[in-house]
Amino acid sequence: MLEKARELDAADSLAPFRDRFDLPEGVIYLDGNSLGCLPRATPARLAEVVAQEWGKNLIRSWNSADWISLPQRIGGKIAPLVGAQAHEVIACDSVSVNLFKLISAALAMQAQNGKRRKVILSEPGNFPTDLYMIEGLEAQGLAERRLAPRESIADAMDEDVALLLLTHAHYKTGELFDMAALTRAAHAAGALVLWDLSHSCGALPVDLNGCEADLAVGCGYKYLNGGPGAPAFAFVAERHHDALQQPLSGWMGHAAPFAFSDDYQPAPGVDSLLCGTAPILAMAALEVGVELIAEIGVARLHAKSQALSEFFRECLAAQGLELDLVSPPDPAKRGSQLSFRHPQAYALSQALIARGVIGDFRDPDILRLGFAPAYLRFEDMAEAARHLGEVLATGEWQRPEFAQRAAVT
Ligand SMILES: *Cc1c(COP(=O)(O)O)cnc(C)c1O
Repeated sequence: MLEKARELDAADSLAPFRDRFDLPEGVIYLDGNSLGCLPRATPARLAEVVAQEWGKNLIRSWNSADWISLPQRIGGKIAPLVGAQAHEVIACDSVSVNLFKLISAALAMQAQNGKRRKVILSEPGNFPTDLYMIEGLEAQGLAERRLAPRESIADAMDEDVALLLLTHAHYKTGELFDMAALTRAAHAAGALVLWDLSHSCGALPVDLNGCEADLAVGCGYKYLNGGPGAPAFAFVAERHHDALQQPLSGWMGHAAPFAFSDDYQPAPGVDSLLCGTAPILAMAALEVGVELIAEIGVARLHAKSQALSEFFRECLAAQGLELDLVSPPDPAKRGSQLSFRHPQAYALSQALIARGVIGDFRDPDILRLGFAPAYLRFEDMAEAARHLGEVLATGEWQRPEFAQRAAVT
């Protein structure tokens, strides 16, 4: 398979982009869906921001380096990746905080339309923070959480549902929701929709406006390679801008922050989603990652992601390995990952990491392998599959050190 892999790499038009990332020797990184790799341009850009913009120009850089509009500027660069207009996306805060703001905004929009709807509908097993943020609003008496299994979400939609909140590509299995169909079903029931694009943005094409989505959030540190804890982004469809209201009414979301008025007056559109001062160093790193992904282009990334994961499966099959795949076997129905159920998934993931093949484990029994298409090679697929086969055949995963759980899995 290694030979075939090398032929595929030689024919891969995305191959040159691997060099735009700083990848450590001896590592096959199958966790770009959790923390994207470091773009080579990031350290120099950060050094410039630190030494020049901060160190020399100090506070003047808010204007001279245009720090003040970084959230809008980066949002505008993310927008084409998710099928949005530039002024519909803003980079700020974490996904969790953006969820709080947008769930609250959805409830406010429903109330403005005279609807007493409080139910936020989601699925059990959605990414924890999505469910927890609904709980937080529920504890304040503002929302009511309803969970329905993914097959019956459309049936669970009734006149009490204010908002449907779903993650487009499931973090554990990679399974995709039909964004267009579910958005239509929600609208038919009078509900709004908020899509969490954390595992989609930068790996597969998303068409928020084509689907008439209302709201969305997404992650900066996964496929956008913005660095650990990178700021996230939020989308609000233009037709909702006039009605947009969110409760974290911080000064940066004010129409005129430097008027220092005693009274809050929200900025128009997504600018009102800003709360406090943007973390400029983190924003600068995110901008480099976003620009690189935008340069490669999401359609090409998607095609390669599908080819990589299918080739990985081919390499497993060539070794006669039959693993319990929990991701959809059809690449069109999954994000850029393959997840396998195995009773010893944690020890397996640790044994692989010891061999330099970094994937991850998701409780209770999932070995999750992400295929970030911007920097992985087909050769990495062949090698990773070989390592997995060897770890299973030798029983090397049974070594006691591989059973010890670290704080972060
Ligand atoms: C990674 C991820 C998040 C991250 O949330 P943060 O608050 O930015 O840490 C949220 N939702 C989903 C679905 C994710 O995969």
